[in-house]
Amino acid sequence: MNFELTILGSGSAVPTANRNPTAHFLNFGEKFFLIDCGEGTQIQLKRYKLRFTRINHIFISHLHGDHYFGLIGLISTLNLLGRKNPLYIYGPPQLKELLDFQMKLADHYIGYKIEFTPLSYDQSKVIVDDRRYTVETIILKHRVHCCGFIFREKSKQRNIIREKIQQYQIPLKEVANIKAGADFLSTDGKFISNKELTIEPPKPKSYAFCSDTIYKESIIEQIKNVDLLYHEATFLSNLSELAKQTYHTTAAQAANIAKMANVKQLVIGHFSSRYASFDEFLQEACPVFENTQIAADGKRIPF
Ligand SMILES: [Zn+2]
Ligand SMILES: [Zn+2]
Repeated sequence: MNFELTILGSGSAVPTANRNPTAHFLNFGEKFFLIDCGEGTQIQLKRYKLRFTRINHIFISHLHGDHYFGLIGLISTLNLLGRKNPLYIYGPPQLKELLDFQMKLADHYIGYKIEFTPLSYDQSKVIVDDRRYTVETIILKHRVHCCGFIFREKSKQRNIIREKIQQYQIPLKEVANIKAGADFLSTDGKFISNKELTIEPPKPKSYAFCSDTIYKESIIEQIKNVDLLYHEATFLSNLSELAKQTYHTTAAQAANIAKMANVKQLVIGHFSSRYASFDEFLQEACPVFENTQIAADGKRIPF
């Protein structure tokens, strides 16, 4: 199964020739999610050959335009492409009003259902609880209400070793119990431990998306040990005062969060349009957290 993040937009409020505003396409074990939808996201999806029909769930972190201005365009295009399946959108409560208003003024009929879930910002919540994974919110601190998202795969059952089924004549009805951890008693009364019959399943994967936020250590506990962390890093350290004033983070601060949360990989993005080169972002982040990489539009990051 694949677990891969594709960066669709790595810039911040002002786009540049090479960096679109924020949007991430997440392949989470062949489940596909769009996280934030800055202007031009649908063009980025086309550019990087990601199929629109795969997207059923869209998560919007907050109502700054660089995180959602592309949404109405995408909704409209999905309609033109003849979409019939419902589209699940999770975002700030006012987003629903905004979308309804735009569609009403344009007398725009959408031929599929939009299932909207308003986010709340008082405490972290599980907003999707699927058989295979969950999505929960991370409460961030920004100029407007803002949250990030953690995608967590659920623990899988142990894998039964095929040859053992034959060897011990294990009936089919016992297989489910053994996968769940039970031992087995054969017809001739022989005890066979679960350990002998099964192997460990792969470790569940996790991805944390921390959108616009001031440096906030209280998120560390929640994102501990994730496989991949995206954290915004709008500025370098010499502008840490500006970062604070505008409720953003520097590269070194993002790396500090990654280090304290003991994550496996860090990707930083949401760079201010004032920067043309990004080596300094790595020079600030890597001494703190070595496994850091710079987001770039079109970059694919397996985890
Ligand atoms: Zn932003
Ligand atoms: Zn913002």
